[in-house]
Amino acid sequence: MNPRWNGQFSCFDLVAKSSAHFRTVVYVRDIPVGGDDFVVMAGPCAVESESQLLRTAEAVAEAGGRILRGGAYKPRSSPYSFQGLGVEGLRFLRKAREQTGLAIVTEVMSEDDVELIAEYADLMQVGTRSMENYSLLEALGQCSRPVLLKRGMTATLEELLRSAQILAEAGNPEIILCERGIRTFETATRNTLDIAAVPVLKTVSHLPVIVDPSHATGVRCLVPTLARAAAVVGSDGLLVEVHPSPDEALSDGSQSLTCDEFRRMMDDLQPYLDLQYENRRIGPQLVAAGGD
Ligand code: PEP
Ligand code: MN
Repeated sequence: MNPRWNGQFSCFDLVAKSSAHFRTVVYVRDIPVGGDDFVVMAGPCAVESESQLLRTAEAVAEAGGRILRGGAYKPRSSPYSFQGLGVEGLRFLRKAREQTGLAIVTEVMSEDDVELIAEYADLMQVGTRSMENYSLLEALGQCSRPVLLKRGMTATLEELLRSAQILAEAGNPEIILCERGIRTFETATRNTLDIAAVPVLKTVSHLPVIVDPSHATGVRCLVPTLARAAAVVGSDGLLVEVHPSPDEALSDGSQSLTCDEFRRMMDDLQPYLDLQYENRRIGPQLVAAGGD
């Protein structure tokens, strides 16, 4: 392992890797994330209506997705944008799980909502804007559900792992990390996907890592390409926005795949996953060799 990284991250002892091959598998219901399966979480940015969610859920399940995403409480960039359906959205998510068997991931923005959301969600999403909300992380430490921790849009990997350590220290070591793009000087995409974050995190931490190519780009046509890149570099899965009619979406339509586009993306992933398994066989020395 790269000794500099080791020195940089080993202080986060609950989430840092202590031996080269140790990996944590986080179970979302009966779905193992961080093992040999590539787990795709997909669905609309926001839960908008029962029919929108159920249609999407069916398409996600048919295409091979395992976990349904959908925000009921939305942290929007503008106060004038749709803020989510709240509890009603959670009820639609539960109904979608009953109908399709998909597990549910949804965002929790406030420590006051942890208990309520945990009644409906199988995986609790901490969004980019909340990565350093320590009272939320501490409340999630006491929660019996695993946590999907998204990287803050201006957070370093060290800061991401610090938040993971806070969660683990507070009592919840069931954490999946998510690279969702960071702010850079580039304006052609909504964020910049830090693809190196995946092998770096997988080298220094035992936690599973997934990629969100939707928020990383903000551009629908780039999502499948970056999903394939994520598969090759060792991601344990994806978080992808899908909408039955993206042009009418109340949130993030321009980065949402249609149900057909999602199915095609899923159908095309396997050769790239085969490359990932080849990279895994070669192992983390690949990454460590790049240090000084
Ligand atoms: C989302 O997943 O819809 C979301 C708001 O993501 P992020 O927190 O990464 O912006
Ligand atoms: Mn979104």
